Amino acid sequence: AVKTSGKNDYRFFDAGFAQEVQSKHQRELELKHALQHGEIGIHFQPRVSLQTGETCSMEALARWHHPSRGLVQPDEFIPLAEETGLIVQVGEIVLQQVCAQLATWTRAGQKVVPVSINIAARHFKDADVVALIEAALERYDLCPGLLEVEITESTMMSNLENVYAALDKLQKLGVTLLVDDFGTGYSSLSLLQELDFDVLKVDMAFTRQLGQKESGVTLFSTIIAMAHSLGMKVVAEGVETQEQARRLRDMKCDEIQGFLISPAVQAEACEPFVSKVFHLH
Ligand code: C2E
Ligand code: MG
Ligand code: MG
Ligand code: MG
Repeated sequence: AVKTSGKNDYRFFDAGFAQEVQSKHQRELELKHALQHGEIGIHFQPRVSLQTGETCSMEALARWHHPSRGLVQPDEFIPLAEETGLIVQVGEIVLQQVCAQLATWTRAGQKVVPVSINIAARHFKDADVVALIEAALERYDLCPGLLEVEITESTMMSNLENVYAALDKLQKLGVTLLVDDFGTGYSSLSLLQELDFDVLKVDMAFTRQLGQKESGVTLFSTIIAMAHSLGMKVVAEGVETQEQARRLRDMKCDEIQGFLISPAVQAEACEPFVSKVFHLH
């Protein structure tokens, strides 16, 4: 250890493990600071209809504009935020920014598509998500149909009474509900049916398998048929090639999201997505 200052401040410059242990609390403080100083923002990734080529919606994804490290991706701070409970503040900031942006686009008179936000299980447990959403919609004078809520399959299965109660209220309010990362957890099909989701987002692990093995196609088709029979639309996540898009369209998948269309971009770069029609062949 090297003593770096007069206080009891030891840093392990060469011991990776020790540094990791030490940095956890440090990282939490840093994230807290970031939340208080406006360093957390959002980028948007379009979701496109395979039938019309039009953008149906955009997903808001959190980004940390770190003063020295630059743009930090969610994988580096969302898990920490969930562990520490800071996810409630992250979610609140994302919600406010999404609503403010929707209001800005509406005021500018441009075509507006709904935006989805990701809500963590911990957020449902620690706060009144529905009240926050209602207040934000009211504050920015937005129609609930402009907001969509994504919860992962594992959140759905977390058996939190408040998750089910909240989803029910959101659905009655007119907010679109999506299951995120479907296929990575252990869903009960009856729960899927009961909870009345509008859209099923199939995890990119399944998209990857398309074109790799024939069973991948069979599996995806089966998921699509199941979702359609429950009245849900299907989105394929992580679509990167024309070949995947073509196969998905043949399988009657409804929408795609992925680098083939665009990675997540800042708000200023979204306009082309809502005005343009993608040609997917
Ligand atoms: P997610 O909700 O499943 O979001 C999709 C992730 O896949 C995004 O990563 C997106 O950039 C990435 N992605 C999209 N298309 C492609 C593709 O074609 N190829 C590949 N390889 N990746 C693609 P991102 O932005 O790094 O977010 C990661 C995860 O962090 C999200 O997964 C979500 O679970 C979580 N997250 C992000 N923002 C928030 C937030 O505001 N609140 C909460 N609770 N979680 C968030
Ligand atoms: Mg998502
Ligand atoms: Mg996902
Ligand atoms: Mg994911």
